[in-house]
Amino acid sequence: MTNHEKTAAVIGAGFGGLALAIRLQSAGIQTTIYEKRDKPGGRAYVYTDDGFTFDAGPTVITDPDCLEQLWALSGRVLSDYVTLLPVTPFYQLCWEDGYRFDYANDQAEIDRQIGEKSPEDVGGYRRFLAYSEDLYREGYEKLGTVPFLNFWSMIKVAPQLMRLESHRSVYSKVSQFIKDDQLRQAFSFHSLLVGGNPFRTSSIYGLIHALERKGGVWFAKGGTGALIAGMVKLFEDLGGTLHLNTEIDRIEAQEDRVTGVVLKDGSRHVFGQIASNADVVHTYKHMLRGTARGESNSRSLEKKSFSMSLFVIYFGLKTTHPELKHHMVLFGARYRDLISEIFGADSLADDFSLYLHAPSVTDNSLAPPGSSAYYVLSPVPHLGTADIDWSVEGPKYRDRILKYLNDRYIPGLLEDLVTVRHFTPFDFRDELNAHLGSAFSVEPILTQSAFFRPHNRDDQISNLYIVGAGTHPGAGIPGVVGSAKATASLMIKDAEP
Ligand SMILES: Cc1cc2nc3c(=O)[nH]c(=O)nc-3n(C[C@H](O)[C@H](O)[C@H](O)COP(=O)(O)OP(=O)(O)OC[C@H]3O[C@@H](n4cnc5c(N)ncnc54)[C@H](O)[C@@H]3O)c2cc1C
Repeated sequence: MTNHEKTAAVIGAGFGGLALAIRLQSAGIQTTIYEKRDKPGGRAYVYTDDGFTFDAGPTVITDPDCLEQLWALSGRVLSDYVTLLPVTPFYQLCWEDGYRFDYANDQAEIDRQIGEKSPEDVGGYRRFLAYSEDLYREGYEKLGTVPFLNFWSMIKVAPQLMRLESHRSVYSKVSQFIKDDQLRQAFSFHSLLVGGNPFRTSSIYGLIHALERKGGVWFAKGGTGALIAGMVKLFEDLGGTLHLNTEIDRIEAQEDRVTGVVLKDGSRHVFGQIASNADVVHTYKHMLRGTARGESNSRSLEKKSFSMSLFVIYFGLKTTHPELKHHMVLFGARYRDLISEIFGADSLADDFSLYLHAPSVTDNSLAPPGSSAYYVLSPVPHLGTADIDWSVEGPKYRDRILKYLNDRYIPGLLEDLVTVRHFTPFDFRDELNAHLGSAFSVEPILTQSAFFRPHNRDDQISNLYIVGAGTHPGAGIPGVVGSAKATASLMIKDAEP
């Protein structure tokens, strides 16, 4: 074994990259992370504007246990690094006709609200919850953190997938249990949180409901950025090294091995193992350019279907709005047709459905006294479906959304606005190197899941690994942290003498 054998490079400091690096470093593999941007976190970047703190991406923290495990590996505890606060209700769901549903982790309260809306659905919801718990056990607990490297691994789980009717969509299974139209939306929209179209994505993603009910919904005190900072501190306390402002230009490969990374400044660094947390297409098409594997695999990856993009507006107000809930989903007038346009239309719809993040309700440290911080996101088509010039359309779209919020949900917003910025599909492409500006990478459909998703270890290059949203199991914090567990299990075993 050479000196370099027990060293690893992780390209990208997203949740997946950091979780993998912590696992490797905890196992005695000397690990170096290279991150392109000036701060760690990837999609969980942080903006600080005019005294406001804005988490750029993930805000709904579920399955805290998958995070606790990272600290437990070295006998540490998460709560010494970051405080997780419970969020109640989990979400408030709002429709344009004025109907609101508080989705809380309280069975009696859920039953009461469903009973008021649609009495026949109380029993149906209970049956849906039992189905979701079954999905959670089979799809998340058993399969969420194990790598699927060969077809046999898929065949072995086929009976469970058939029993759970994973060929059906989330929406179609929810509709089997629940009859009311708005309640069907309330219990099927979750797959959008990981980039899945509820009308197309496998019913397996119905497990998210049980995941939330079981583990709760949490918010990191100080914002998701505080959780990222805690992960970086843990990694550095373990002896790992993180380089920011350091874009990897190339991964060097010789036949079936990678040997090192080449930085943008041309310097070359040798490692025994290399894992990419960067976008999968970027990894093969750009970083492995000029190699046979890079060329063949990027061609096949480009044929896959990718999740939608997002348009996100971060804004601060000089007032507070305690009447809002921390997480709000604001459904527009159309559900099925709008989602189908987000996933396939060649232009931007006139209407939208929004997710509103109002963290100041839980944590007043994110805005100056008497003020409040927000972001609002709208799912939009990615750059492969809709040829929209976001540098022109972005400011117009931003103004339409802010006016809608002002008129319906946050009176006075336009007058009280202190700071505002937005992030478009162009930014996903240019800042994060995301293929087609997709917000969640490879779309989570059955034919692109588990074995059919890009593998946690490359099929031909034996010391090249993938971690993050583009590999198994997929996007979302529990997904990418689970991918780190699957990828680390391979890397640690492969590094054994
Ligand atoms: C707006 C938004 C809201 C979301 N909300 C939630 C939520 O509430 N809850 C939830 O669980 N999930 C949520 N998600 C999904 C979740 O954030 C992502 O799936 C997850 O964070 C992706 O992590 P990742 O490990 O794949 O890495 P990424 O976050 O994609 O990070 C990859 C990193 O690689 C770096 N990189 C790329 N190329 C290079 C290179 N050549 N050299 C060096 N570095 C490079 C990038 O700069 C980036 O930092 C949300 C996503 C978005 C966009």
